[in-house]
Amino acid sequence: MAVGGLGLIIGGIIIYRELRDKRRDAQRASSYVQPTPTYQTTVEQPTYQPIAQAQPITTEFKPKFCTSCGGKIEEGMTFCSNCGASI
Ligand SMILES: [Zn+2]
Repeated sequence: MAVGGLGLIIGGIIIYRELRDKRRDAQRASSYVQPTPTYQTTVEQPTYQPIAQAQPITTEFKPKFCTSCGGKIEEGMTFCSNCGASI
């Protein structure tokens, strides 16, 4: 990533210099003195989003298990769906 970004910057500088040279030639031809163009290297910095903090798992539903067979009891059930034992 860093090398690629550097290459982009260098490429941009080269393009800029070529453009500047062309401008200079044009300036010489027209004998018009332009103010020095301000070249700003705006390297886009990647914005690192803070990783969402792990939310504590707050589940109201607490799974119950049958005391008779150990099967899972669905919420709201009053008897085991597996063996039929009352909870
Ligand atoms: Zn059961």
